[in-house]
Amino acid sequence: MENCIFCAIIKGDIPTEKLYEDDDVVAFEDINAQAPEHFLVIPKKHIATPNDAEDDALLGKLSLIAAKIAKERGFSENGYRLVMNCNKDGCQSVYHIHLHCLGGRQMTWPPG
Ligand code: 5GP
Ligand code: ZN
Repeated sequence: MENCIFCAIIKGDIPTEKLYEDDDVVAFEDINAQAPEHFLVIPKKHIATPNDAEDDALLGKLSLIAAKIAKERGFSENGYRLVMNCNKDGCQSVYHIHLHCLGGRQMTWPPG
């Protein structure tokens, strides 16, 4: 998708160090980390919002890969938060779905 920053990262047009990559998904650090650990897991297929997602296996894979990376990075036992924002009320700012994984500190609830 043209004009999509995450499609540009997938294509390599925006150089970004990948934490994980396979045929379906890519993971990389968030450029504006909100926690000591903050990475994003995204599908290679451009899907604009969670409302547009249809592939249950792909959506599930985002979560499984996040857990795998959290384990590798050593914060899975303490815990973390997985978030996928949707549209305006959800504060989505990049319209290519992405699962945030935040960890390395105590989270609070409810979220703002
Ligand atoms: P959203 O607000 O849509 O849920 O999250 C988008 C996330 O993408 C934000 O946390 C933002 O910091 C991150 N982000 C936006 N542009 C870039 C970029 O060019 N590179 C990286 N690594 N992260 C980005
Ligand atoms: Zn995209």
